[in-house]
Amino acid sequence: MSESERFDTRAITECTDWEYGDVVSPIHLSSTYRLGGVDPEMSLEEIDPDRGEFLYGRLSNPTRHAVEQQITELEGGEMGFAFASGTAAIATAVLSTVEPGDHLVAFDDLYAGTRRMFDQFVSGRFGVDVEYVDATGTANVAAAVTDETAMVWMESPTNPMIRLCDIAGIADIAAEHEAILGVDNTFASPYFQQPLSLGADLVIHSTTKYLNGHSDGVGGALVTDDPAIAEAVGFQQQVAMGNVLAPFDSYLLSRGMKTLPVRMRQHEENAMALAEFLEGHEAVERVYYPGLDSHPQHDLAAEQMSGYGGVLSFELTGGMESAKAFLESMETMNLAVSLGGVETLVNHPATMTHEPLGSERRAELGISDSLVRLSVGLEDVADLRADFERGFDAISAAAPTR
Ligand SMILES: *Cc1c(COP(=O)(O)O)cnc(C)c1O
Repeated sequence: MSESERFDTRAITECTDWEYGDVVSPIHLSSTYRLGGVDPEMSLEEIDPDRGEFLYGRLSNPTRHAVEQQITELEGGEMGFAFASGTAAIATAVLSTVEPGDHLVAFDDLYAGTRRMFDQFVSGRFGVDVEYVDATGTANVAAAVTDETAMVWMESPTNPMIRLCDIAGIADIAAEHEAILGVDNTFASPYFQQPLSLGADLVIHSTTKYLNGHSDGVGGALVTDDPAIAEAVGFQQQVAMGNVLAPFDSYLLSRGMKTLPVRMRQHEENAMALAEFLEGHEAVERVYYPGLDSHPQHDLAAEQMSGYGGVLSFELTGGMESAKAFLESMETMNLAVSLGGVETLVNHPATMTHEPLGSERRAELGISDSLVRLSVGLEDVADLRADFERGFDAISAAAPTR
């Protein structure tokens, strides 16, 4: 792969020095590798996958190594690691860089599972002082970060309210206090946003979502351009926690990433069309999509992202009853958690992804009972609109005007 190649080309170009000239990474299943002999001079730490050297499948595997290089290229980093899930990537990022008693500043609107990990584990068991801030205002981050802060943890856009934070502005604040900035880039994907180029120190993905893109593999990844972080993460991933992506899932992830650019362009085109359709409808109170002029952070999105992505949320008129009637009449869309696949997934945060937060916390975040989150797929947008029409009819039928 050449650094001068453009994104679409880099997404497709694989490591091609396989023994038989394969253009696709073979799936290497072996858990162990023959050594050439007994060499008292050689340290195991010198075994280098970049030179085609392997020792044991947890430490490295050729298929996983190939996909790690592929994602590193796409995020514009130096080193990448693939994990068994996005959650595992986040846990490893944090455990590699903070210690008990350290201060961590995080966006108050994090993925619900990350928030649970930070509350119950990072803070509750590991004794890290986790402070949440409304990072839509960069000044709130500046007020919270001190010289004691070891890490700043951000997501942009967030889920399900599609809020953004100014990654470059926050990177300056973190750098001033020598804190590490980690960004969960799952929603934007590297096609639309590259946090390392905005000043982040590490970026993670739930590759389960857009990078795999076909809803057939759970995985995670971390990419960094800082050698010290890479070393700490590599040790945690491979040696201390043994947290690695299996060969077959690595292959599926690699296959998915090759079509990331074309998928993202179509996800965005469909999302924009649906956002505009919904915004004009009388049964919709509000639409949250950064591509709309009505989004309060539309300008920031235009500046820090090269596209607005494929996830949007909207609030229906009426409460739980409206949402239930609407969601149960979808025929093309799938009522399911997760996002980023080729098929449209529609999610009711109050009873699905954000149910564990409890109603009080949901209210604080603005997640009402009639909020619907949509991961817009690649179907013909006319069929998706037809689903919405069925949903709106069902709302009227459920609540006839008196
Ligand atoms: C899904 C998701 C995660 C968790 O990833 P898993 O692969 O499910 O462990 C983390 N962050 C974001 C933004 C997500 O959407």
